[in-house]
Amino acid sequence: MTVTHALEGDVLRRQDPELADLLLGERERQASTLQLIAAENFTSPAVLAALGSPLANKYAEGYPGARHHGGCEIADVAERLAVERAKALFGAEHANVQAHSGSSAVLAAYAALLRPGDTVLALGLPYGGHLTHGSPANFSGRWFDFVGYGVDAESGLIDHDQVRTLARTRRPKAIVCGSIAYPRHIDYAFFREVADEVGAYLIADAAHPIGLVAGGAAPSPVPYADVVCATTHKVLRGPRGGMILCGAELAERVDRAVFPFTQGGAQMHTIAAKAVAFGEAATEAFAVYTHQVVANARALAAALAAEGLVVTTGGTDTHLITADPAPLGVDGRTARGRLAAAGLVMDCCALPHADLRGLRLGTAAVTTQGMREAEMIRIAAFIGQALRDEASAPRVREQVRDLAGAFPP
Ligand SMILES: *Cc1c(COP(=O)(O)O)cnc(C)c1O
Repeated sequence: MTVTHALEGDVLRRQDPELADLLLGERERQASTLQLIAAENFTSPAVLAALGSPLANKYAEGYPGARHHGGCEIADVAERLAVERAKALFGAEHANVQAHSGSSAVLAAYAALLRPGDTVLALGLPYGGHLTHGSPANFSGRWFDFVGYGVDAESGLIDHDQVRTLARTRRPKAIVCGSIAYPRHIDYAFFREVADEVGAYLIADAAHPIGLVAGGAAPSPVPYADVVCATTHKVLRGPRGGMILCGAELAERVDRAVFPFTQGGAQMHTIAAKAVAFGEAATEAFAVYTHQVVANARALAAALAAEGLVVTTGGTDTHLITADPAPLGVDGRTARGRLAAAGLVMDCCALPHADLRGLRLGTAAVTTQGMREAEMIRIAAFIGQALRDEASAPRVREQVRDLAGAFPP
């Protein structure tokens, strides 16, 4: 896939060469290094075109057919198209495509279902919970009484017994399943069963796997959760933004929780780009892509283990891997810096039951570039080399540049 867009034109360069240079520099950075941040991807030229379209100029507070602004005839059709495509793609009765981001989607889900002070059960932050799952630095931790469940110290898998026990003793109003760092499929049927037992809502925060769900490469939370929150920019490969899926009975509460409760005007250019991305995600080519994303992650996890890193849960079901580089003599924070110097861009993250941080990486972006298992094995070798021998960074950087150059984004 070759991304050509507004940067090719000279409108911006003539008017604002300073910013044009910055954008070219960013494109060069993205094209010459390897984007292994699990939450990132490369959108298509069509998605970028919609983002840069005249809908960027349109104010559209409200929902199709009930706007607070005039001139929304086309915006209404575009939003209805995005909604219908999302519903069809995920088999959902209702879709809200206005949430500005994944965090906004979660905020709206809580606003739709909870009152301040309610108890919510979610994966604890040290085990991969998102900031919106009860961080004291976030509205969620300030306004709700979050109880964290964890993962088993040995297997790294969600501790289902603990989830059930905490649900029975703490009687949460909602249970959240979903994570920024959990590499395995989530057992949505299990969470539904526990939620039903204690009379709680089930909120699936599927920001990461929703793209895999679209392509049939991961189980869907839609049949199980009362509300599914998601992003559109991770594996799903759309514009930066959020989305909420739910049953017809919660549709009005969810819509009102997004607008007017937590947001103002819809970002119509982003909604148009979401429609484009949902259209792409409904194709056979996208299904093939998502299965390759997972195959690549499995190959990369196995190759990283062979390099001596300890891969959490022993592998992955998804696009996402977390690993402890400690056996190579570095902690995650140091490792991230060394790898960045070699052109390998990824995150460090908390590791369950470990004092030091580990590495979190994903295969969504490199798979969009067309890389396959053979390239994953080379990437693991680059990572091992750069971590074992700090002085090798410039050499590895050149090899990374060659590999990235052979698969232009
Ligand atoms: C990425 C993510 C979010 C937040 O998405 P933003 O668009 O960055 O606000 C929320 N929850 C989970 C589980 C995520 O992975």
